[in-house]
Amino acid sequence: MKKNDPASSIQDLRQFGEFGGVNPSITDSSTYTFLAADTMEDTFHGETQGCFLYSRHWNPSNKYLADALAALEETESGWITASGMAAITCTILELCNSGDHIVTSVTTYGGTFAFLKNYLPKFNIEVSFVNIADIESVERAIQPNTRLIYTESLTNPLLQISDIPALSDICRRNGIQLIVDNTFSPMIISPARLGADIIVYSMTKFINGKNDCVAGAICSSTDFIKRLSDVNSGTAMLLGPVLDPLRSSSILKNLHTLHIRMKQHGHNAMFLARRFSELGLKVIYPGLESHPQHDLMKELMNEEFGFGGMLAIDFGDHQTSNKIMQLMQENDIGYLAVSLGYFKTLFSCSGHSTSSELPPEIQKEIGLSEGLTRFSVGLDNDIERTYDKILYCMKELKILS
Ligand code: PLP
Repeated sequence: MKKNDPASSIQDLRQFGEFGGVNPSITDSSTYTFLAADTMEDTFHGETQGCFLYSRHWNPSNKYLADALAALEETESGWITASGMAAITCTILELCNSGDHIVTSVTTYGGTFAFLKNYLPKFNIEVSFVNIADIESVERAIQPNTRLIYTESLTNPLLQISDIPALSDICRRNGIQLIVDNTFSPMIISPARLGADIIVYSMTKFINGKNDCVAGAICSSTDFIKRLSDVNSGTAMLLGPVLDPLRSSSILKNLHTLHIRMKQHGHNAMFLARRFSELGLKVIYPGLESHPQHDLMKELMNEEFGFGGMLAIDFGDHQTSNKIMQLMQENDIGYLAVSLGYFKTLFSCSGHSTSSELPPEIQKEIGLSEGLTRFSVGLDNDIERTYDKILYCMKELKILS
């Protein structure tokens, strides 16, 4: 297989603005004129190319960004949403009807878990939660009414790696769809190339990288994107979570530096993960040989972009996690905040924040300990200096002697 280079696919895009602008123009309009009434009618029925009707349906700024994401993911098309949750919920609701069944990784972002567990039963959609690293348990969970397998390429917050080719194989054999949330590993993992049918993103995170907005995306076949945006029955069209064109335009510019940022996030996270594990701390990071799926990660990843910016350290209990996070913030190591993919390091205690939707017994069952602290490692230029500061905090709190 040819070396995958999603960064060059974005670099090669030729997207210009009016008057030869080097960035595409922002279309600041909700509706569009037609010179001929027939063309408007044809556009309603999805039969014209290059025409825009109404910005909830499609707008040029979102189309530029969607095309860039499709290039990144090597899919035929893309669709831009107002949040990652909108991308996830629209995709699932488009594929499932009442009476259908979903198999999902039990470790997912807490909001996704809550949607699957608490919201879908309203529509009589049944969900089986499995350990995604146990391929046999995934296979056993498939039922005649299963429509899809849902997973995250790197799960939140336990950083399990989804064996996308093996999951795709189960989907092919059962005639169902594989949906992969690639929020933690853009550039690093190329789910479509590995066999996923639909890739969803919270662009709020690494893709945008600035924590100045919430946004999402869906990358898939042209048929699926047309289905989502159909004026009569498309879930995205009818539920309407469209992103504002001004935001699309700023995210598109940030997307062009994503490859550099991912390398630096990965370099810094690898440095900290190695050092912390040498100190005997319990560290979860896919780049460490101690990670149970390190070899799988190496098989699946586009190596030049590193192992990602996310790592988790188990400080044992919630109180210790809180104390170290506060002290790290006071020492300018980063911020005690949820979310990820920012240029500064962010840390949060997963079980009490972004995974608090998981009931305590499920947290325990999946190995999400009380003190598990998730780090989204920033773009620090001198990571050794950052490491020294963290070490100082740990010594102050007698986590290390
Ligand atoms: N997917 C993952 C892996 C996430 O971590 C998050 C948010 O933290 C989401 C999806 C939801 O994205 P958003 O907050 O943009 O709706």
